[in-house]
Amino acid sequence: MAEVKRQGLLVLISGPSGVGKGTVVASFMAGRSDCVTSVSATTRAPRAGEIDGQSYYFISRETFQEWVSQDRFLEWDEHFGNCYGTPRQFVEEQRAAGKHVILEIDVVGAHRGMEKDPDAVGIFVLPPSVDVLKERLVTRGTESEEQIRDRLERLDRELSFIDGYKYAIINDSLDDAVAQINDIFSAEMSATVRLRRDGVIAAIIAQPDGT
Ligand code: 5GP
Repeated sequence: MAEVKRQGLLVLISGPSGVGKGTVVASFMAGRSDCVTSVSATTRAPRAGEIDGQSYYFISRETFQEWVSQDRFLEWDEHFGNCYGTPRQFVEEQRAAGKHVILEIDVVGAHRGMEKDPDAVGIFVLPPSVDVLKERLVTRGTESEEQIRDRLERLDRELSFIDGYKYAIINDSLDDAVAQINDIFSAEMSATVRLRRDGVIAAIIAQPDGT
């Protein structure tokens, strides 16, 4: 088969806070040199130890607004009075170069990203039991009753987004969760629509007219 250049996937990984998605994503990434994560832009001030261009791109509100009006974000959202967004150019360049781009992103951001790019693959990370996760939030003992109520409401809201994701994985064992993500990548790269788009099918199946 002639050499063909494959386009990388855009994969959005979300899940309720406390589900351990950061650990799952870090463990998955450690085993894959063909995946990159995107650095978001934010209007919030850097915290101690954060490095511009690594932790975030720290930009002014004016610049952020300018980028929004120029459609330079794949998605963006506001949290605690600051704006956060995924710069589109990096994602597109990496995917064109064949790298898969992974965004670990909240449910609203993911929803917007999937709306803007229907080719994006959404993966929702579930806990083995929502009741256990709720109990953990309640019994941590570090929060006030109001904070606990906020967290539980947020959890219910986050879970209500699950149907917008093509896949859901259960974070029961870390190894199994990582294996499930690897399986999803293999399946998505074998989708005929992507094989066709990347010219793989044309390179294998000669057309009757010889093209
Ligand atoms: P922090 O200020 O603590 O780093 O992040 C605050 C919130 O912003 C977190 O919930 C984080 O997931 C979210 N966030 C960070 N980057 C992005 C982004 O590019 N897009 C969206 N929608 N949210 C983001």
